[in-house]
Amino acid sequence: MTPPPGAPDLAALRPRLPSPLTAVEDERFARHGVRLLLKRDDLIHPELPGNKWRKLAPNLRAAAEAGRHTLLTFGGAYSNHLRATAAAGRLLGLATVGVVRGQELADRPLNPSLARCSADGMRLLFTDRATYRRKTEPAVLSTLLTEAALRPEDVHVVPEGGSNALAAHGCAALGEELRGTADVVAVACGTGGTLAGLAAGLGPGQRALGFPVVGGDFLEGEIRHLQRAAFGAPTGDWHLDGRFTFGGYARTTPALDTFAEDFGARHGLPVERLYVAKMLYGLTALTEEGAFPEGTTVAAVITGAP
Ligand SMILES: *Cc1c(COP(=O)(O)O)cnc(C)c1O
Repeated sequence: MTPPPGAPDLAALRPRLPSPLTAVEDERFARHGVRLLLKRDDLIHPELPGNKWRKLAPNLRAAAEAGRHTLLTFGGAYSNHLRATAAAGRLLGLATVGVVRGQELADRPLNPSLARCSADGMRLLFTDRATYRRKTEPAVLSTLLTEAALRPEDVHVVPEGGSNALAAHGCAALGEELRGTADVVAVACGTGGTLAGLAAGLGPGQRALGFPVVGGDFLEGEIRHLQRAAFGAPTGDWHLDGRFTFGGYARTTPALDTFAEDFGARHGLPVERLYVAKMLYGLTALTEEGAFPEGTTVAAVITGAP
């Protein structure tokens, strides 16, 4: 089907969907009678990998249908979501605006992540942390739009991390692709949007296991809230294991680095460090603790690339 005039032609970007699912040999799992599969969402698209494609695609379609040609979104200085949004803008000919947490960043050279956003044509608006915290308030958003000389009717606003109801629907397709393939599906969680959709898309008897990369109890409520917005009610069989944050967002330890290097070398894939490494570490630890009965098949979602 050709898209209506003015709509971004997502199919022209040739996403690799459904993403590949591969069985790997890993004695740390085999020893416990657990089969390990890798769901290679990192291979969906080189510039819009993993859950970023799944969450952005329905937003890009909705923006086009509403005739909104500017995408505005939010993120920290190293946000994968900002980078993916900027790339989508360049590839599809949409204007993008990134509201970045931290006024002080405006006076420094751009870090490599923000430099990439900027090179892709994203306009960066640096915002002080107090304002950034209040970014979902209509008055704050309206001031941002005015300062950027944007008309609200031209702008499709995507929340931080890209997680809204549309995004959750996009991630439900991930669950649907995994129906009948695994008993447990493991995924790393930032905002929880991916888990919210994944859990809704899985089939009966399958459960989703989320590994938050930051501490705090906000995430369960967020996921339920997103599921209510997207699907009408909390849905699916899912839970979180918060033991593997390694000190918080973008934090790491020598043990985590060693694990990630080794996992990548064993199985021939680049292990993304902010999210994927923590999920794989947690999943391996749980398996070694005997958390999964013999005969369990576990699928680990590789949500992104380094
Ligand atoms: C953004 C990101 C996540 C977090 O996804 P949420 O939907 O915010 O929970 C996980 N993994 C990778 C690789 C990411 O880039």
